[in-house]
Amino acid sequence: MKVAVFPGSFDPLTRGHLDLIKRGSQLFDQLAVAVMINVGKQPVFTVDERVAQIKTAVSPYDNVSVITANELTVNLMNRVGADYLLRGLRNTNDFQYERDIAAMNQHLDNQIETLFMLADPKYQHLSSSLIKEVAKFGGDVSEYLPGEIAEQLTEKLRRN
Ligand code: ADP
Repeated sequence: MKVAVFPGSFDPLTRGHLDLIKRGSQLFDQLAVAVMINVGKQPVFTVDERVAQIKTAVSPYDNVSVITANELTVNLMNRVGADYLLRGLRNTNDFQYERDIAAMNQHLDNQIETLFMLADPKYQHLSSSLIKEVAKFGGDVSEYLPGEIAEQLTEKLRRN
């Protein structure tokens, strides 16, 4: 069984993330999308809200599950029996950052293999933070967000 984890903040999930999940679901027997609880970041959506959004978006993919974690990624992976860590690369900035994380994870557990997939060119410019920035000032980002996430983001930002 090839089991992979795709960890991230997903605040919120974008079509760029979802594209990676779809492609990952075709490569692995099981893929767990892990919403990482990051105390350093002040999220717009709660963990439960993000889990619900992702569950809806991944419902077409039978072998994709959604979990949460508040621990080292390598510990999470051992807990769920995953050998592969999936991450996305949009540009050289991602590469520099991701290479350091992959090296650190290899130091922590050399059984874990980090695999990178290039972002689809149509989503290469997308990040959750850019989406939030544009949405905050009323820009239309709905085509970059799956399902009801665009409406939920507008509503959330209106209330904050
Ligand atoms: P983190 O806080 O861990 O970087 P993110 O939610 O920002 O969490 O990203 C999770 C993963 O998804 C990362 O590997 C990131 O490179 C990847 N990713 C983010 N946006 C895109 C995108 N538009 N296309 C493909 N991969 C992406």
